[in-house]
Amino acid sequence: MIKVTLPDGSIKEFESNSTPFDVARSISEGLARNIISASYNGLTIETTTALTSDGALVLHTFNDDEGKKAFWHSSAHVLAETILEFYPKAKLTIGPAIENGFYYDLDLGDDVISEKDFQQIEKKFLELARGKHEFKMRSVSKADALSLYKEENNPYKVELIDGLTDGDITFCDHNNFTDLCRGGHIPNTGIIKAIKIMNVAGAYWRGDEKNNQLTRLYGISFPKQKMLTEYLELLEEAKKRDHRKLGRELELFTFSQRVGAGLPLWLPKGAALRGRLEDFLKVAQKKAGYEMVMTPHIGQKELYVTSGHYEKYGEDSFQAIKTPKMDEEFLLKPMNCPHHCEVYNFKPYSYKDLPKRFAEFGTVYRYEQSGELHGLTRVRGFTQDDAHIFCTPEQLDEEFKNVIDLVLYVFGSLGFEDFTAQVSIRDKNNPDKYIGDTKTWDIAENAIISAASDKGLKYVIEEGEAAFYGPKLDFMVKDALGRSWQLGTIQVDYNLPERFDLTYKGRDNQLHRPVMIHRAPFGSMERFIAVLLEHTGGNFPLWLMPEQVIILPISDKYQIYTEKVLHLLENSEIRALVDNRSEKTGRKIRDAEVSKIPFMLIVGEKEEKDGTVSVRRHGEGDKGTYSIKDFIALMNTEIEKTVIPFHN
Ligand SMILES: [Zn+2]
Ligand SMILES: [Zn+2]
Repeated sequence: MIKVTLPDGSIKEFESNSTPFDVARSISEGLARNIISASYNGLTIETTTALTSDGALVLHTFNDDEGKKAFWHSSAHVLAETILEFYPKAKLTIGPAIENGFYYDLDLGDDVISEKDFQQIEKKFLELARGKHEFKMRSVSKADALSLYKEENNPYKVELIDGLTDGDITFCDHNNFTDLCRGGHIPNTGIIKAIKIMNVAGAYWRGDEKNNQLTRLYGISFPKQKMLTEYLELLEEAKKRDHRKLGRELELFTFSQRVGAGLPLWLPKGAALRGRLEDFLKVAQKKAGYEMVMTPHIGQKELYVTSGHYEKYGEDSFQAIKTPKMDEEFLLKPMNCPHHCEVYNFKPYSYKDLPKRFAEFGTVYRYEQSGELHGLTRVRGFTQDDAHIFCTPEQLDEEFKNVIDLVLYVFGSLGFEDFTAQVSIRDKNNPDKYIGDTKTWDIAENAIISAASDKGLKYVIEEGEAAFYGPKLDFMVKDALGRSWQLGTIQVDYNLPERFDLTYKGRDNQLHRPVMIHRAPFGSMERFIAVLLEHTGGNFPLWLMPEQVIILPISDKYQIYTEKVLHLLENSEIRALVDNRSEKTGRKIRDAEVSKIPFMLIVGEKEEKDGTVSVRRHGEGDKGTYSIKDFIALMNTEIEKTVIPFHN
């Protein structure tokens, strides 16, 4: 008998040689039907692998990342099998699962696969899958493995096998198809009910451009046709919401080849939007006891040598700026922290003065390779909503909770309701990797964990993920399409106070080191606005909208009344404009819908006579007639509902 520990901690006994499938069936037939892969003691195995020793078993369904990985990896086998049906001379290389689906890299010789072939590949794939062929692993000797692929004249597999140890080599068979494989499959091909070839691209063998170029086929598969349909709809929607596209359409930001790649230019509407976000955070921060500071965009090289950032960013980032004076060198700042440490050093503090909370919308510059740049999410210059808190170790707990409150307030006000947190702590088996003593680390890690659970955050703890200078908490938000984004971060730092010799006078009249907290609720303004654009599809909360109201006069006979309405709105701080074109009202409404302006006010003879406006809401249609005063009240009520003032 063997003892199998299940994820809930329960231990069950089974006959030796029982399989994960047997274990699932002992729990419920339903589970047995749904499990598609398994891991034992952290290692991926097959659902049919015989368990011969005690261990911890996790059963995976398509809902888990591990289950998806097995599903998509198995699909790659079937795709390779399918390709061989059409191109028997194709040479197989590798076919891994990726975040969304899988790919297979093939050497097709002189053959070419193009988009018009996808449909028949998909059809054949499903035909083969319907055979419900089991995936079966078997061990092979290195000699046998090599001879098989030498016979097939496949140098890629030969190279892969050359790198493997005899005794560790396995093949996977299904139907009449065999591939070199480490394992981790679904039980049989029949579970794959839907497949879509997404793309064909060139890829160099082993990613090295000196090697042969291969054909990479990207695909995604699902256990239900409906899931594929939903996935494709989601992709369509994501394309519509691409922040680069929306940024252009809504005239928020642009890039110029002359200015340089990865350096966003904020257009008037985008700059105003960003300004509103900054003002919103400034108001909350002020209530939370932060003080604004301002520091320059560059600093002496020595500053970053002191902070350690030169070591981290110096070689691989923007190079030093020289001056006419020999040996004088400045760097574009990659981080605001060193400047803020020097702000702290301006004068001596006692424990009674702490915490000090210095905030700045600080623009930083980091070199990214041009291939890595992506809209506003990967740029070379960006503005952090940065702040550094300098506090005593005793205040850490409280400060951490305050920062979490602020971050949650920010997310709530902007309509992000689904978020999780990741607490990154040190690897306790490797104390040498970290600066600071065990006791202070314990205090900080406990402070973060207790703050996270006190505030009711959904969080996971990742051991070994902390920076060398301190533990941290990162917020992941889910957008309207269910995609995860990393946004705000809170990080404890024992390193910089040491390097900059920061002190405060304690109750005991001795000098002590303050603890430093780095925090940025938005993360960076660029990234945050990109995520907000994709989350809202450009339909920002009303208080943020670049233009909140558009007035649509039925004809230019009503010009005077139109101007009166505009003035009244502007006097109430409402951002409004007029569509003065001599177009039909229907056309004006359609154009206003496209521009996503939340409110359309139609004015004509009746409205002028009664002193009213006919209100239409974007995406909703007619809302009836309002006096101007009532309309302003309607807008203010909606705004007040979303941005509740921050309470400390
Ligand atoms: Zn495999
Ligand atoms: Zn910092």
